[in-house]
Amino acid sequence: MRLREAVAADVAAFVAAHGRAPGLAVVLVGEDPASRVYVKNKGVATRAAGMVSFEHRLDAGVSEAELLALVAALNADQAVDGILVQLPLPAHIDGDKVLAAIDPAKDVDGFHPVNAGRLAVGQKALVPCTPKGCLMLIEEALGDLSGREALVIGRSSIVGKPMAALLTAKSATVTLAHSRTRDLAGHVARAEIVVAAVGVPEMVRGDWIRPGACVIDVGINRVVAADGTSRLVGDVEFAGASVRAGWITPVPGGVGPMTIACLLANTVEAASARLAA
Ligand code: NDP
Repeated sequence: MRLREAVAADVAAFVAAHGRAPGLAVVLVGEDPASRVYVKNKGVATRAAGMVSFEHRLDAGVSEAELLALVAALNADQAVDGILVQLPLPAHIDGDKVLAAIDPAKDVDGFHPVNAGRLAVGQKALVPCTPKGCLMLIEEALGDLSGREALVIGRSSIVGKPMAALLTAKSATVTLAHSRTRDLAGHVARAEIVVAAVGVPEMVRGDWIRPGACVIDVGINRVVAADGTSRLVGDVEFAGASVRAGWITPVPGGVGPMTIACLLANTVEAASARLAA
């Protein structure tokens, strides 16, 4: 993948200039199976890119104060350039408080209000990895997005809202749909770009898709068949959509790998910016 190659080249240049590799600290609280897989994959990818991976696995019963103390220590650690606290956190911990405690300069997930605010007002920011990766895929497919009709389905702070901000910054005409949206099918039918980030299996029907549209499926949903076997599907009905779309990402294997590649890119970016400051 080209982005991973670009990141590896940036890491090599960083090592040559500074005598050390960029470091990414990942904090996992508890035993959520999906989170464990994500954290493991992030560690593997970080090391494969030539960077240093610091992994902190905390018991589900860890107190909020202990987690905040770890974040403070990572903020102060000069070997750590990026900090990622894997979500979701256990209910007794205030996730917003923990994310706000991360140094914005090390916030490689781009979830800190400072980075979210910078993105919203068009300033340089660390941008959330999933929408950043989606934008790269869309630009690769369509080139200039100026004036394009774009529909983002889902308004989370992690995917939907930053995705809408990124597309707006590229001068697309953006509609942001959510659970209260009326006539979603009509919105989809008008869109040249559809980004689905909902978390409902195959809710975007294939026959809604405008012929030739660029369809980015962010959803990751596990569905269990009658025989007990399970498989991952996206938010878009792939079989039907793929015959109408000009360009479509599969699930799994589409957006997911781009998200991790963008995390690595954000870590090198954060490392370089911090040392230049
Ligand atoms: P959230 O649950 O935070 O947000 C879901 C959004 O979908 C909400 O804005 C909600 O609207 C909207 N929604 C729910 N039902 C409907 C509906 N029927 N019609 C239109 N909109 C609806 O999810 P995330 O943004 O965190 O994640 C979305 C999906 O993307 C999940 O499947 C997740 O697993 C996946 N994901 C994948 C990543 C990757 O790397 N590939 C990374 C991050 C997420 P409202 O605000 O009104 O409730």
